Amino acid sequence: MYRADSHLHTCFSFDGNPLATVDAICRAACERGLQEITFTDHCDINGEVEGIYAPFPIEKARKEVLAAREAYRGKLIVNWGIELGQPYQYPDAARALIDRGEFDFVLGSLHNLTGVPDFYFLRYAQMTDPLLDQLFARCLAESMEVIRFPGVHSLAHLTYPCRYYALDGRSFDPMRYADQIAALFDEMRQRGVALEINSSTLRKGLDFTLPNESILQLWRECGGELVTIGSDAHSAEEVGADFDAVCAMLLRCGFSSFVTFRGGAPVEHPLV
Ligand SMILES: [Zn+2]
Ligand SMILES: [Zn+2]
Repeated sequence: MYRADSHLHTCFSFDGNPLATVDAICRAACERGLQEITFTDHCDINGEVEGIYAPFPIEKARKEVLAAREAYRGKLIVNWGIELGQPYQYPDAARALIDRGEFDFVLGSLHNLTGVPDFYFLRYAQMTDPLLDQLFARCLAESMEVIRFPGVHSLAHLTYPCRYYALDGRSFDPMRYADQIAALFDEMRQRGVALEINSSTLRKGLDFTLPNESILQLWRECGGELVTIGSDAHSAEEVGADFDAVCAMLLRCGFSSFVTFRGGAPVEHPLV
């Protein structure tokens, strides 16, 4: 079966592992039998504009990824992508980046609500249930802004707060928001935006992906066809992690293929 990972971070991400060089990631991908990878280092647009994260060294990263594309030609397809966080919060800066026109893949993501730190930095154990609901509802509303941003190809880790809610011991069923999620999915389908299944939670000992299987089923019921698969690896050891588990989930939900993006266009890969 065709194996690919469309969500990978290198040492060039602000939270990257210094050992996760472009070459180390490519070598790990070959060792694990992957045929295609897409680098998606972080460019959280508000982090860049507000100066709250180390800036993404785009030229350096691009040079290395394009060199790896040549070095691994015939062994591994290497795509140049980006995980673009919160583009709608600073649209001019995000547009300037996308307008460079060089990315195979723009993975739109939401790590922090407008004016609020990354969900990663918040603590949920003491929050009331209505507050968890409020944050989640805002997450869905702002996810709509992410997928409406022109040039975004796939939506990363929908239900991202659920990772941190669960790690802080809070149970939360995102399917209570099925109507709002279905509205988001209708818009994505009309715009040709793919849904990412992000397996990073499985490595953290949680029993669901982002989003979970019920929401993937909803994507299918809403007529969604395009799915990208990403480990969200931040080290070479994590490249391609839980790919088989995600494929099994896709098959259970009635999908027959997943996609990767090359030159901004989806390329379909059968699941069997
Ligand atoms: Zn992310
Ligand atoms: Zn990521």
